[in-house]
Amino acid sequence: MACVHFEQVVKRYEGAREPVAAIEGLSASIEDGEFVVIVGPSGCGKSTLLRLVAGLETVTSGTIRIGERVVNDLEPARRDIAMVFQNYALYPHMTVFDNMAYGLKLRGVPKEDIRRRVEQAAQILEIGHLLHRKPRQLSGGQRQRVAMGRAIVRQPQVFLFDEPLSNLDAKLRVQTRLEIQKLHRELGITSLFVTHDQVEAMTLAQRVMTMNAGRLEQFGTPEEIYHRPATTFVATFIGSPAMNLLRDVPGARDGLLLGIRPEHLRVVNEGEGWPVTVEAVELLGAERLIHGRTHGQPITVRVAESDPCHPKPGDAVHVQPMPDRLHTFDPNTGRRID
Ligand code: ADP
Repeated sequence: MACVHFEQVVKRYEGAREPVAAIEGLSASIEDGEFVVIVGPSGCGKSTLLRLVAGLETVTSGTIRIGERVVNDLEPARRDIAMVFQNYALYPHMTVFDNMAYGLKLRGVPKEDIRRRVEQAAQILEIGHLLHRKPRQLSGGQRQRVAMGRAIVRQPQVFLFDEPLSNLDAKLRVQTRLEIQKLHRELGITSLFVTHDQVEAMTLAQRVMTMNAGRLEQFGTPEEIYHRPATTFVATFIGSPAMNLLRDVPGARDGLLLGIRPEHLRVVNEGEGWPVTVEAVELLGAERLIHGRTHGQPITVRVAESDPCHPKPGDAVHVQPMPDRLHTFDPNTGRRID
């Protein structure tokens, strides 16, 4: 196991006309044994960052260290990392056992050791009964586990996951998420996990790196990211539906943006709170989303399905923010103000 350090990492790709900046001066330290999720919208540089750690891309400037070693110029095979991709890239003509054993064979690990490590990994992943099968005889979830097994047998210093759950259906995604958590508890290997899915980020991570346009917006625990978002970008990217950002409503400080999550608004009696003209209502099962406008700005309110408030489009309701759940941001810089 090892920590991973980024120091002023910059990555530019050669573009058709001019270089494309994918990472713009990123510094962060991931602790030994930590599970960190890198999240952000498409094109923000997540995969690039992971590929830089893997050695599939080289940094333009700055330093990446795995443990005490600077790995900038180290070839991928010598970095002691294992990567799990979104397409599992299993060899179709090999059995599950051979797929998992292949990397170890190439490195000349003794046969008995290979058998022991593969069987151990198969036991952890509960795929012991599948070792003789070919990938085409497996379900998507089972293939995903074999891909993880192949990474585990290498006993790497660092696991790198590149959107490994995006090819699974919703139910299997939830299940595999829980399995990855369990795996991390058992093995304790430093892990970097890339996703564009904020739910995945919040449920899997010990700490979340939220990225935007090649920059690190905030690096914190899921609780910190949710309760104290550092910027309006983080505030609106994490949490669904997104945090409401309002200006010039009662309670807002002069010229500043007031942030309030839909789940932190309460429907109150007329005469109290902010008036909302309802535009649409969505029933999501356990809760109802009321979309409307207040003080000329869009607002979304989340109420429990059991709430007696059942407005229709065109109705007026009144809502009040929970005072200890308000956030304030500078509209020019987007940064949080305390
Ligand atoms: P993400 O994984 O967050 O979707 P990427 O790391 O793939 O983002 O890409 C970051 C930026 O770098 C994007 O603008 C993308 O178009 C650009 N990019 C990625 N790979 C290359 C490449 N090989 N050549 C040129 N530009 C690239």
